[in-house]
Amino acid sequence: MHIPYSGRHYTDIVAGAAALALDGLTVVYPGSSEPALRTVSLSVPAGVRAALVGANGSGKSTLLKAVAGLLRPQAGTIRIYGRPVGACHHRVAYLPQRGEVDWRFPVTVARLVLAGRYVHLGWLRRPRADDRRRVAAVLEQLGLSDLAHRQISQLSGGQQQRALLARALVQEADLLLLDEPLSAVDAASRQIIARALDGLRHQGKTALVATHHLDRLDEEFDLVFTLDEGVLQRSYRPLPGREAGNLLSISSSQ
Ligand code: ADP
Ligand code: MG
Repeated sequence: MHIPYSGRHYTDIVAGAAALALDGLTVVYPGSSEPALRTVSLSVPAGVRAALVGANGSGKSTLLKAVAGLLRPQAGTIRIYGRPVGACHHRVAYLPQRGEVDWRFPVTVARLVLAGRYVHLGWLRRPRADDRRRVAAVLEQLGLSDLAHRQISQLSGGQQQRALLARALVQEADLLLLDEPLSAVDAASRQIIARALDGLRHQGKTALVATHHLDRLDEEFDLVFTLDEGVLQRSYRPLPGREAGNLLSISSSQ
């Protein structure tokens, strides 16, 4: 039976489907002559941590936004657990690049993070004690408890980055799209964020992470995609054989 998305009734995922499958994805921004993404096809199996690397302007953010449903592709398909974008809304959490958020918006850290729960509430449903407990737990995990009632405009860069991650984590999504979660953060924030990302692995979550930190790709990711001027240049497994249970299902049709 098909249950349309509303409140806590969710569309089922397709058994055995990749967490994310792109086929021929092409995105052209209005007024631009060059596509930001050109016929990109890739597959991220469930449970895998994948990195998206490439120079500035190579299309990393565009790809994540298209998967998050924020941009409409000109061509190609996006499947999330076998379903079109939007069918599994609550299963996908998106962390925007920090520079794309309006940090002057008058909202407290706790409120920002609580917004991550809204996909679970449904129309006009108020957050419940359980939602607030989950927010408190994530704030604690990311060392933000003392800042819960501070305006987001009053945070340092590293704290802002942790707040964005808190909002993504509290959603308890299965697929996390993280746009440069470690860029320009202080050492303490970096450590806290890296530990939280590592925790995702143990929970069997799938992550697609745009990153500039190439030094630790091999240790931190199971799969690496390289973009160059909107074209997928390369997909590879840094350490073949590791996590074989997950990686065996990687599509060979890329
Ligand atoms: P990355 O995240 O890898 O730095 P982006 O996805 O942000 O790359 O950008 C890819 C290309 O799309 C770049 O050429 C960039 O200038 C262009 N672009 C990004 N956002 C927009 C936009 N809103 N309007 C027009 N062009 C854009
Ligand atoms: Mg970007």
